[in-house]
Amino acid sequence: MEKKKKIIITIDGWSSCGKSTLARQMARELNYVYIDSGAMYRAITLYFLRNHVDWTKPAAVKKALKNIVLEFVPNTKTGQSEMWLNGENVEYVIRDLVIAEKVSEVASVRAVREFAVRQQQAMGKGKGIVMDGRDIGTVVFPKAELKIFMTADNKVRVERRFKELFEKNPNITLDEVKHNLEMRDYIDSHREISPLRKARNAIELDNSHLTMRQQLEIAMKWAREQMK
Ligand code: C5P
Repeated sequence: MEKKKKIIITIDGWSSCGKSTLARQMARELNYVYIDSGAMYRAITLYFLRNHVDWTKPAAVKKALKNIVLEFVPNTKTGQSEMWLNGENVEYVIRDLVIAEKVSEVASVRAVREFAVRQQQAMGKGKGIVMDGRDIGTVVFPKAELKIFMTADNKVRVERRFKELFEKNPNITLDEVKHNLEMRDYIDSHREISPLRKARNAIELDNSHLTMRQQLEIAMKWAREQMK
């Protein structure tokens, strides 16, 4: 049997493009580890909000980061890995709009990025990993074998995220979700450190009119070519 090369797959792109869905599907298909890098920034934001850490103050950030332990722990029922913060499962609470409203500010802080990127790079040491985020192909794994940059129409993205959040909170409005996505995309692509960019050698995947099955087939074809 042909021996397949283990690779690193990075999936970057705008908020709510379906990056995590594709990343999770690919990881399952390839028996790779899936890492949701955004969950790490969300968990750090949760810690800062709970502990009233002023992230505009470098000394406060430095001190707070020393008290943060992030882990991805598999859920024994679903098989999916979930974000744990200092021994607490925070996978559900970090998806809240309260976190989404602040996460891009927190993720713009240099010390926060260094803290997260160091751990992300360690997770990719043995390859066989699919990681999604904003700077994975440009900064975290610049030498990754397959880099995907995802896009989708704004309207499609807002509706998708609204549906997701509405299930948890029926008081949420479409306008709130739209505003949050636009704000995050703006901050993420304009920040000084590791702004959201399509890596030079990334392949663009616009999934506005693709089913989950179709996008998986396209991406898996690209992955198989790199694994030869
Ligand atoms: O992917 P998700 O939408 O959960 O990410 C939440 C936020 O975390 C993003 O809007 C961005 O500000 C930040 N992020 C980042 N770099 C990454 C992943 C996420 O700055 N690699």
